[in-house]
Formats: sequence, structure tokens, C-alpha cells
Amino acid sequence: MARYTDPSCRLCRREGQKLFLKGERCYSTKCSMEKRSFPPGQHGQGRKKVSEYGLQLREKQKAKRFYGLQEAQFRNTFDKASRKTGITGENLLIMLETRLDNVVFRLGFASSRKEARQLVTHGHFQVNGKKVDIPSYAVSVGDVIKIKEKSTNSPKFKEIKEMSITVPAWVSVDVEKLEGKIVAMPVRDDIDTPIAEHLIVELYSK
Ligand code: SF4
Repeated sequence: MARYTDPSCRLCRREGQKLFLKGERCYSTKCSMEKRSFPPGQHGQGRKKVSEYGLQLREKQKAKRFYGLQEAQFRNTFDKASRKTGITGENLLIMLETRLDNVVFRLGFASSRKEARQLVTHGHFQVNGKKVDIPSYAVSVGDVIKIKEKSTNSPKFKEIKEMSITVPAWVSVDVEKLEGKIVAMPVRDDIDTPIAEHLIVELYSK
């Protein structure tokens, strides 16, 4: 009998890895990857041989899905990363990490990047005192990301004050004030996203 699998969870199963797209569910036993970690579809368990191109393509798809970007946005970010000085793959990951929606997620103000994007789009955040509702907004060192005063009474944000939040070294968070700060730009070692970025560079260099 066919079993229903949430579309987000199908993406994880396709990539063979948890992409943490569903918030708390991803950390529970309800996670589809706990029981069915093979690709979805009729031939899901039969696919074995993957070509070099296939590997590169999967890595790009995984990165895109992890950060919740569409193809054109992802390609655009890659093109910008390749024009910067330094290693293109690392530049790409740093640019993805420093998007406002990802920062909101990293600060613990949202349970998933998808939710973070929605909260940003709905205008709940300020950067350095000004409303920013663009998920792709690139944060810089010293930026203060704060939940808008008007939004702090919502139950969603009230419960954050009760939580103990662990953040990466390049940001700091003050849960009482419901604000976070970029203390340094992330370097590759700060980014725990399981992506082999050189495969993406190889794919786009063809
Ligand atoms: Fe679904 Fe989250 Fe598990 Fe992925 S990690 S399969 S999105 S519950």
C-alpha cells in the first residue's frame, strides 16, 4: 500500500540525508528518514550506480534544498560567489549562510529555514533598527538582527525567551532582548552544512 510522505520529507529521502526542512519533526522519531532512508518512488530502492555528473547534480540539489532556494536564485548566488576573490565553493557557502533567513534560523528564532523565510517575509525582523523583509538580504559583521517590537508579544516569539539556544561561533544571541548579532563572518569550518561544495563548482564549470 502506498504511504503518504510529506513533500519536504521526500526531498530528504531523495538526497539520502536529513535536510531539516520541517522544524521539530526533523528531530523526532516521526522523521521519514528514520524509517525510510531510501529514495522515494517505485524504483527508489533499486537505484545504485551514480555517475560523476549525477553526484555533482545531487550535491547541487541538496545545497539548494537545504537553503530553500530556487534554481535561478541558486545559480545567481553561485555566479556572484565566483566573481569574488577566494575559493568559489567557500564563497558560495558563506553567501548562503549569511542570508538573513538562514541567520534567523541559526539564531534560533525559527525552527526551520522555511519558517525563517516566512517570518522575514512577513516583516517580523529589523536589521540595525530598520525593517528588512528580504530573505536573501546579506548580513555583515556588526549587524544586529532583532525581532520587531510589535511582534514580540506573539506566542511564537514569547516562547523563545524560555528556550536555551545554541548558536554558531560567528553569531551571538540575547534571548531576553530577542536579538542577535553578527560577531564575525563565518569561515568554512564554522559551517556544518553537509555539502561538498567542490562538486557544485565542478558541475557549474562544465
Ligand atoms: Fe522530513 Fe525533517 Fe526528516 Fe527531512 S529531516 S525527512 S524534512 S522530518
